[in-house]
Amino acid sequence: MISKIIAEELITKVKKEIDKAEKIVIVAHVGPDGDAMGSTLALWHYLMTIEKEPVVIVPTPFPNFLNWMPGAECVLVYENYKERSDELINSAELIFTLDFNTPSRMAKMADAVINASAPKILVDHHLHPADFAKVAISYPEISSTSELIFRLICRMGDFSKINLACAECIYTGMMTDTGGFTYNSNGQEIYIIIAELIKLGIDKDDIYRKVFNTYSEDRLRLMGFCLFHKMKVFPEYKTALITVTGKELYQFNFQNGDAEGFVNIPLSISGVDFSVFMREDTDKIKISLRSQGTFPANKVAADLFNGGGHLNAAGGESYSTLAETIKKFEDALPDYKDFLE
Ligand code: 5GP
Ligand code: MN
Repeated sequence: MISKIIAEELITKVKKEIDKAEKIVIVAHVGPDGDAMGSTLALWHYLMTIEKEPVVIVPTPFPNFLNWMPGAECVLVYENYKERSDELINSAELIFTLDFNTPSRMAKMADAVINASAPKILVDHHLHPADFAKVAISYPEISSTSELIFRLICRMGDFSKINLACAECIYTGMMTDTGGFTYNSNGQEIYIIIAELIKLGIDKDDIYRKVFNTYSEDRLRLMGFCLFHKMKVFPEYKTALITVTGKELYQFNFQNGDAEGFVNIPLSISGVDFSVFMREDTDKIKISLRSQGTFPANKVAADLFNGGGHLNAAGGESYSTLAETIKKFEDALPDYKDFLE
């Protein structure tokens, strides 16, 4: 038995909303990651088995290494199919918002979702959920939204409706948001849930291989380039910084998702507890931050880069140049010395 984390009254409310609705839109955040895709698709599969009409819409494309996910071919990308997406969002009877806490994380899709008349149900594990949903299932202590979806379905009495495809999606989200169960992953019940998913037929080793071991040669060479030429270590601050320009990315034929996970690598250096990766995008600098122990990556993201996230995994953006962004970060580093263990 797993414990009842989600409050009973929330389960009742969600069940009621699902019962009332046929057309259900499920959305996730911009730059969807494994948990965004895992949780939305898991819910999609579940809603299909109970004969609803669900559709998953994400603001921007998801990385290629998630293409294999069952149902991925049916996911609508808002920026590519804006008109159709707006139509679906407007005519939805219920909207699930998964794996993000604030409308701005939906980027250009935010207005459509917020202005839609359908009630919203938020399911998420980020701190400080904004107040836009009729029902908010927000549990930051849970390491993935996909795990929350598993818990939600079970608590609605529908464990038997979790098919293999749904189970694979849940596992993918749980695995990716914990770096293959290497951080944020001491919750005992994670492993009880995995055992249940294995009983449902998932091949966890195969999922790991499909997500983490199917990269392109270009990505591996870009990784080598970043580590050899672009990584700066600040031993006195137990910090590493990797920065990469748009031009450099172009030289390595950069594809969506190619830099995924780079930010974690410097944490494997003894004495490095905080790692930051900055990537020049077309209109902004995208910043990923990771830490070990009690160092608050999310505080740095919020203080410096208008972002947020979890204690050990956070992100943000900068609209200054890369050089200015680097300088801002390096100048601010001494301010965080007290947080180092
Ligand atoms: P990543 O580095 O993988 O893009 O993001 C790691 C985590 O940081 C995400 O799961 C999310 O919680 C958070 N995050 C990433 N980008 C942003 C951002 O721009 N704003 C906020 N508030 N959180 C972000
Ligand atoms: Mn997540």
